[in-house]
Amino acid sequence: MLIFTQIAALQKHLKPYIKQGKTIGFVPTMGALHRGHIFLIQKSIKEADLTVCSIFVNPTQFNDPADFDKYPSTVPADVEKLNKAKCDILFLPSVKEMYPDGTQNKRKVDFGFLAQTLEGEHRPGHFDGMAQVVERLLRIVKPHLLYMGLKDYQQQLIVGKLIAKRKLRVKLMALKTVRERDGLALSSRNVRLNVEQRKVAVQLSKALRRSKYYLKTGTEIASAQLSGRKKLEKNKEIEIEYFEIRNANTLAVPKSRKEKMVALVAAKVGGVRLIDNMRMW
Ligand code: AMP
Repeated sequence: MLIFTQIAALQKHLKPYIKQGKTIGFVPTMGALHRGHIFLIQKSIKEADLTVCSIFVNPTQFNDPADFDKYPSTVPADVEKLNKAKCDILFLPSVKEMYPDGTQNKRKVDFGFLAQTLEGEHRPGHFDGMAQVVERLLRIVKPHLLYMGLKDYQQQLIVGKLIAKRKLRVKLMALKTVRERDGLALSSRNVRLNVEQRKVAVQLSKALRRSKYYLKTGTEIASAQLSGRKKLEKNKEIEIEYFEIRNANTLAVPKSRKEKMVALVAAKVGGVRLIDNMRMW
């Protein structure tokens, strides 16, 4: 695998491939790679001619500076995992390389309600920072296929809207959430959980599954939501930020059981903020 830290060198390397009509698959990450990330890499390797992974802990998407400082960094282990997965290229830029003119966002996209609710409400500015860096990365790498995880459900909806609004020529491939055996969604933040907290964290996916079960067996939306939430509330160690059943495309509060729905949760376990979601169909 080749590693590039400079945009110019990366683009010089990619140019002949683009000229030859090769398909470029791109997997943007913040590192601390786990099986969820590697799943995206493997899909890209299968479907594209060339796979580019980026590792960049984007400062503009952290509304909480402490969360940014504590974000795990495991670059040598990440490189090993990417090599093993046969990833072609790793792009590892510095903050200066990504934001040569500073981090101020002068060309914000208006995502409307999609970016104001749920994560948008609890992490002000998060999606502006995320969209800012994803757009920059897409303009640098110019991939044909962009691989993202449904784990960050709201994020992939917003990136879909970003692509449409900016008329970027890339196809978004949103892939299933990879989970631990007991159901816990893999996340770079999981390494910050101690043994006890790790045991408790599984309740997020269990609560989502409970809501899904109730919804599937004919319970009203509000009651299905409440039953999932109640399951979480039983654990004193869990601090719920939201537990909601929403329309799967708009994230609006659903009006009818006929809509496609998704349940989304954000909660802190021992101070570690975790998110998860589940399709209700
Ligand atoms: P991150 O490094 O957390 O920014 O994630 C990079 C990409 O990996 C995003 O598109 C995430 O949605 C995706 N991802 C993170 N965790 C998982 C998971 N458990 N399963 C599948 N994709 C994931």
